[in-house]
Amino acid sequence: MSETTVDLLIVGQGVAGSALAWQALRRQLKIHVISSPAQWPLSASQVGAGLITPITGSRLALAWRFAEFRSSALDLYRFVANETNRDCWRNRPALRWLTTAEEELWLSRCHKFPASANYLQPVEEDFVASREHGIHGPAGTKPYVMLEAARVLLPVFLQATEKWLRETACLSSAEFRPCDLLWDEVACHWQWKSIAARRIVLCTGYTPELIRLPFLAAKGELMEIELPGARKDYSWHGGIWMTPQEQDRWLVGATYDPQHLDYEITSEARLELSGGLAQWGIRNPQICSQQAAIRPALPGQMPAIGWSLPESILGRVSEVTWPQEKNCGVINGLGSRGALWAPLLAKWLLDSMEGQPLPPEINLTRFLKP
Ligand SMILES: Cc1cc2nc3c(=O)[nH]c(=O)nc-3n(C[C@H](O)[C@H](O)[C@H](O)COP(=O)(O)OP(=O)(O)OC[C@H]3O[C@@H](n4cnc5c(N)ncnc54)[C@H](O)[C@@H]3O)c2cc1C
Repeated sequence: MSETTVDLLIVGQGVAGSALAWQALRRQLKIHVISSPAQWPLSASQVGAGLITPITGSRLALAWRFAEFRSSALDLYRFVANETNRDCWRNRPALRWLTTAEEELWLSRCHKFPASANYLQPVEEDFVASREHGIHGPAGTKPYVMLEAARVLLPVFLQATEKWLRETACLSSAEFRPCDLLWDEVACHWQWKSIAARRIVLCTGYTPELIRLPFLAAKGELMEIELPGARKDYSWHGGIWMTPQEQDRWLVGATYDPQHLDYEITSEARLELSGGLAQWGIRNPQICSQQAAIRPALPGQMPAIGWSLPESILGRVSEVTWPQEKNCGVINGLGSRGALWAPLLAKWLLDSMEGQPLPPEINLTRFLKP
């Protein structure tokens, strides 16, 4: 069997593994990606809406290092568009309706912190009423425009990446199992089938059976509805969100359920999302489809990246003799922010191979025993 030697063996081709593959290409690193052939369950990246927003949650907090992450994300997705002719980035301003007293309170505080306030601009309700057909904000609430909001069309990004990897023979459709790895002590590399790799990076999303991370994951469901006639230049946020798709379709999401970590679509989620739509005057919409997946989240809602001893992250597998080198990498815990975070996290992981320190807030070592 002829052997291929690469710098990085990447496991998983969701948004994290895909972003890492492209960032590695930009540094002329050789890679190979292992991607699960399973059609079901869907991964978070296949289901996720790819929305990028500066302000999150009912406390209207500015997302961590938002400007830096956004600029790096735009840079990478534009690079991919140039390489593949598939542009997955959409500048998509977002209307944010403050729907609770708590949000109003946080808004008054947030305006004392210019960093957050810079991203929220009040607009007149007439502005919305004059433009939309029957869609309006909840009674007595005010809309704000969230500046710098965007959307990454994740299916476009994943498909363009898969096509590139296939055409360059850098993709294996296979289920990765730690017991299929061999460590060649003489050559100091991993052997996985015919691939020899200096390092391995696990970008496998919510996989508690595979990697030792203290997941605090949450199932999410969303649905696609038909909404003829609505103008499609804004996403709407307020409790739930909706964002325009092709033709007359809109994506509506998302539920957040940390209790039921399965992949079934439910009538409860449909009801919850329909209730959210009713606040905007949208009743009994035609539902075209519904999907569910699990967000890979970690304590503190922050991601984890870094390098470890393979045994610390993969556990003990009797057939494997692990090397005493920190050559097993991880990008995980992308939670609800995979589209925004993946490009810069991938860059930071590669920088750290060259000796750059990782920001302590996201360093994988915070979960590993010393
Ligand atoms: C309903 C919903 C809405 C969301 N909305 C947004 C949003 O608007 N904006 C946003 O930024 N994020 C959103 N997210 C979150 C976002 O989708 C995730 O943060 C992101 O997709 C996680 O990417 P990942 O690559 O880490 O994991 P995944 O997408 O789970 O990818 C992991 C990949 O690894 C593969 N894999 C796993 N184990 C193996 C193995 N043993 N061998 C081979 N391959 C393996 C899987 O098949 C998969 O392809 C949403 C998520 C959900 C569920």
